[in-house]
Amino acid sequence: METLIGKTTRELEAVAASLGTQSFRGKQISAWLYKKGASSIDAMTDLPAALRTQMAAEYSVGIPEPVHRDAAKDGTVKYLLRCDDGLTIESVYLPYQERVSACLSSQIGCAAGCTFCATALSGLARNLTPGEIVGQYLRMQAESERRISHVVYMGMGEPLWNYDNVIQSMRLLGDEIGLSYRHITVSTVGVVPGILALAREKMPITLALSLHAPDDDTRSRLIPTGRKWKIAEILEACREYSQRTQRDLTFEYLLIGGVNDSVEQAGALARLLNRYRLQGNVNLIPFNYVATKQGFSRPTRDSITEFRAELERLGRVATQRMTRGHEVSAACGQLRRKLESPSVISLQLADQPEK
Ligand code: SAH
Repeated sequence: METLIGKTTRELEAVAASLGTQSFRGKQISAWLYKKGASSIDAMTDLPAALRTQMAAEYSVGIPEPVHRDAAKDGTVKYLLRCDDGLTIESVYLPYQERVSACLSSQIGCAAGCTFCATALSGLARNLTPGEIVGQYLRMQAESERRISHVVYMGMGEPLWNYDNVIQSMRLLGDEIGLSYRHITVSTVGVVPGILALAREKMPITLALSLHAPDDDTRSRLIPTGRKWKIAEILEACREYSQRTQRDLTFEYLLIGGVNDSVEQAGALARLLNRYRLQGNVNLIPFNYVATKQGFSRPTRDSITEFRAELERLGRVATQRMTRGHEVSAACGQLRRKLESPSVISLQLADQPEK
């Protein structure tokens, strides 16, 4: 059955017209879906009963159903949501003092094959539709007393490999739900054609690049797509992005003990970004333990401090991502594996003690 979520007000007006009513009904449906968070057609009480019945024969609302929720002490809630075809995706609700963020998935699984990532272990099943992406936001908003003002595309999948649907989902978040585009962040493994296309969209969102290493050898050990797009090519695309959009990027840097966390690598990273004249924060993310065959481990506290100090000494602004929702497996792809492949996840969740 076709879902209503995912359609713009204009498209909903066409739906209303196709059911033989006035198109202004489309605006009412849109308000129910995107402003009031209706989860069923029946809840749309200002529509004539006959129209609701007629609509329900052809359409469903399409908010994904939670099959599991895990709440952490810090307020983080990790959701496992079921799509219409029974496949599941993860979304995370992240309350902070001054704002609430939602972390959304863009694909079911992922094809990038990053060697530190739980999602990569199961490969790519399919792209999510714009409705399924926005549905994650609406599900979490429906259960939240606070308004979710920020969205990050840092859940399962590579957003720029599902380009059209991700763009459409951002338009729905911005134009229908009313989020500020400035509060939307898309994180990419470095899909060069996608970065260049995004630079032309004239959407003032934030682009985050998962850089994770200052040289191609180390990077391609971590991110196999690194073999396709070299760092130089990716950073040139980022440069074009920031020139065209006048927006700074964020550089995500995953820290893995003994792999990419040395002071020399910090220096190389700072010099690299300076050489490309790329402004923007370096966001340091300590590896969230996943038992992949590489046997990666978390960086020590000292190595994080020294890495950060070296970046700052060379003029870069660095922030350290707080690990949130640790006990609810909030790293990309972890919850789904825990629930759906218990044998694998029992290894993954054997959380390493912090050194
Ligand atoms: N495909 C996109 C977005 C999804 S992943 C991307 O690669 O950017 C979002 C972020 O989580 C990425 O920076 C990714 O490298 C990071 N990540 C994945 N697994 C992780 C883990 N085990 N510990 C810490 N960060 C992880």
